[in-house]
Amino acid sequence: MELTATPVPESRRVTSTAIESLLDLAAIVILCLGFAASITVLTWVGIVGLGMACWLILGSFLNWLVFRALAEVIRLLKRSVDLDYAGRISGSYVDTVMTCSNCGAILRSDVCCDSCGARLTKVDPKD
Ligand SMILES: [Zn+2]
Repeated sequence: MELTATPVPESRRVTSTAIESLLDLAAIVILCLGFAASITVLTWVGIVGLGMACWLILGSFLNWLVFRALAEVIRLLKRSVDLDYAGRISGSYVDTVMTCSNCGAILRSDVCCDSCGARLTKVDPKD
């Protein structure tokens, strides 16, 4: 008897460089180039080029801001349709901190609570 098979659709995760990450990278590169150009202008021209150097810094900062905003819009659009996105959306977010189960203070040590002095026991990751 001949061995037969049928094609079965199967999902797999394909990862590539996210455009929002490239925009963040471009924003940093533009900002650094702006600072380097302003320092170069100040070095070559001297204090006379201070105005031009300030405009270069301002321009690179505004370009950085636009690129970061574009990256943020892409992240928000991806999040709105439940797609994965690279990076973090700015603004407030929920962070997890370890607190003492005895007094509720935020823990700064792995050994004991700074507030009530209770010795900390290891938490089983399965729990
Ligand atoms: Zn405590």
